[in-house]
Amino acid sequence: MNKALLVMAISASVSVSAQNASANVTDQDILNDQKITTQVVTNGMGLNGQRFSPLSNINKDNVKKLLPAWSFSFGGEKQRGQEAQPLIYDGVMYVTASYSRVFAVDVKTGEELWQYDARLPDGIMPCCDVINRGAAIYGDLIYFGTLDAQLVALDRKTGKVTWKKKIGDYKAGYSITAAPMIVEGKVITGVSGGEFGIIGKVEARDAKTGEVVWSRPTIEGHMGMLNGKESTMTGTKNATWPGDMWKYGGGATWLGGTYDEETRTIFYGTGNPAPWNSHLRPGDNLYSTSRIAINPDNGEIKWHYQTTPNDGWDYDGVNEVVSFNLDGKKLAATADRNGFFYVFNREEGKLVNATPFVNEITWAKGIDLKTGRPIYNEDNRPGNPTKSKDGKKGESVFAVPAFLGGKNWMPIAYSQQTELFYVPSNEWGMDIWNEPVNYKKGAAYLGAGFTIKPLYEDHIGSLKAIDPKTGKVAWEYKNNAPLWGGVMTTAGDLVFMGTPEGYFKAFNAKTGEELWKFQTGSGIVGTPVTWEQDGEQYVSIVSGWGGAVPLWGGEVAKRVKNLNQGGSIWTFKIPN
Ligand code: CA
Repeated sequence: MNKALLVMAISASVSVSAQNASANVTDQDILNDQKITTQVVTNGMGLNGQRFSPLSNINKDNVKKLLPAWSFSFGGEKQRGQEAQPLIYDGVMYVTASYSRVFAVDVKTGEELWQYDARLPDGIMPCCDVINRGAAIYGDLIYFGTLDAQLVALDRKTGKVTWKKKIGDYKAGYSITAAPMIVEGKVITGVSGGEFGIIGKVEARDAKTGEVVWSRPTIEGHMGMLNGKESTMTGTKNATWPGDMWKYGGGATWLGGTYDEETRTIFYGTGNPAPWNSHLRPGDNLYSTSRIAINPDNGEIKWHYQTTPNDGWDYDGVNEVVSFNLDGKKLAATADRNGFFYVFNREEGKLVNATPFVNEITWAKGIDLKTGRPIYNEDNRPGNPTKSKDGKKGESVFAVPAFLGGKNWMPIAYSQQTELFYVPSNEWGMDIWNEPVNYKKGAAYLGAGFTIKPLYEDHIGSLKAIDPKTGKVAWEYKNNAPLWGGVMTTAGDLVFMGTPEGYFKAFNAKTGEELWKFQTGSGIVGTPVTWEQDGEQYVSIVSGWGGAVPLWGGEVAKRVKNLNQGGSIWTFKIPN
């Protein structure tokens, strides 16, 4: 097929799927998700992760008229953190909730169509609340991961299980909280559990059967799989890890991935090396705290970039890689837990720029753009316990950002209209010290103690608009509580985001002016979506306070202790 015919074929299938919404979800629906405004069939509102909608019916001039169309309760005693991004297809919203639940809801009325509750065993070990971040959809199936590390495919019409596969051993600390991703007929997943000494991996499975196509471990020395056979080793054994430490090396792929169609690349971030005590594993500890670019055909790593070599602060490098084109260049950006905002050439992973997106960073002076490596402040690394008097507690340091990160899981957005990134960040630090630790299956594998502390009286959260050309902050919105939900931007010159105080807010994308807010009744730690139904634009967000902050937040957790739990989805439109 020549190029012109191919383009015609693709555009024809786009308009067909947009008009004939009762068809099953196709690869073209997924690849064109950003452009097809009647659906949201990917986490990220497009595989590139931009979370940018071309819709402008709701815009900066009329957003103040936005009102609830309906609200739906996740119900029961099962509340806790609600971190999902909903999917929209064929008049149905598919949304996941805490404790590994999935709901199908009529998008016009908010009426429940079906509910699936995973039966979780008693011994699950989620590090950071019983959350789930969303589903994937392909063909007639809905895919999601559970807290006992299973990948489940449900019939989208009935909610009945079509297949279910074990991805990891929950008794060793494996779990899944991220939304899976569909790439060319394969369902792509990662795993959580870096605090328990698991081995991170990215897996591709046949979307119809659930059988493994390839598996790529993220810690050097471990063997990959392709079509049922061993493929290649990740890295070179013991090149950047001492002794046997690579066997329990972490590098959890707990946040899920993005995909760039132009370069045919899957991007995944990898978490901290295990344990947290960096003195036990001298070396760079590849491929922990890295972004890895993966060939979707065979699971081979094309390139990688490590943000925090020999991480000693739990600066997981899981943060999402967002592809974008600017001034004719194929770029990608990511905002790291360690406080730096990175821009890469996404074809070969070459670093273009790295700038701070939080006010203070103590662990490094900056990033050397020639080598791509941080310029460490070595005295800000927590001390080696073997050098202390009793050998039990190393020297404590005050490090910024705190381990929950300049940015944690909550996704950023990129506007093709303003050419700005919108980054939900937090300004906080921590006392951190190291302790001795040995690996034991199913036990926390940290070798560290810590207390998170706020830096300012008036705010911790900070939504920043960042210019990727310069790294400069164009505007900032300060929030009292730490931000823990995702961001969306639209061609209506708007940025949407929720706050732990319960407000769903809209900002002017160019100036940061707050234009609208609505109180949802519980803290928001989910990510908004927008779509078009019968010519009207809708916006939805899940509400339900929880996540890692109340569990790990130290003195910050005290500041937010009066926020109430919940569990509901709110859908808005401008009334006729
Ligand atoms: Ca971690």
